[in-house]
Amino acid sequence: MKFCPNCHLTYDDTANVCGQCGGPLQVIPQQVPQAQPAYDPTDHTAEFNPRDISDNKVFAMLPYLMSFIGVIIALLAAPSSPYTMFHVRQGLKISVTSILVTIVGAIIPFLGWIAAGICAIVILVVEIICFFRVCKGQAKEPPIIKNLGFLK
Ligand SMILES: [Zn+2]
Repeated sequence: MKFCPNCHLTYDDTANVCGQCGGPLQVIPQQVPQAQPAYDPTDHTAEFNPRDISDNKVFAMLPYLMSFIGVIIALLAAPSSPYTMFHVRQGLKISVTSILVTIVGAIIPFLGWIAAGICAIVILVVEIICFFRVCKGQAKEPPIIKNLGFLK
């Protein structure tokens, strides 16, 4: 579509000048589609019942706060909550990663200790991020840990 900026009349693309004033036509810019929020395949929030999320948030936080102990409490407290079980799985991933890092760090002297120390800090940050996501009622896979590809 084209339009005349003087008369505000619209014409087909084949027209070159305005039929009313003879002035040059301008091309109407195509409507830009509304920007969709970026699709995040690790964000599972929509898969859970909002009621489940609000009721069981407290239990879903535990695996990030208390590692294996939190996992066990969450399993006992809210076994029928898919939202809690999602975070139990993510918390297990983080806890298992943490143990592997500790073992590897213990085996390799010096360099291993430094690497394990750095990893421990990274894991702590990941746990804090996950904790705040639960506070917001989200169900996203943990950053970094999600790329390790075990315990899906
Ligand atoms: Zn015109």
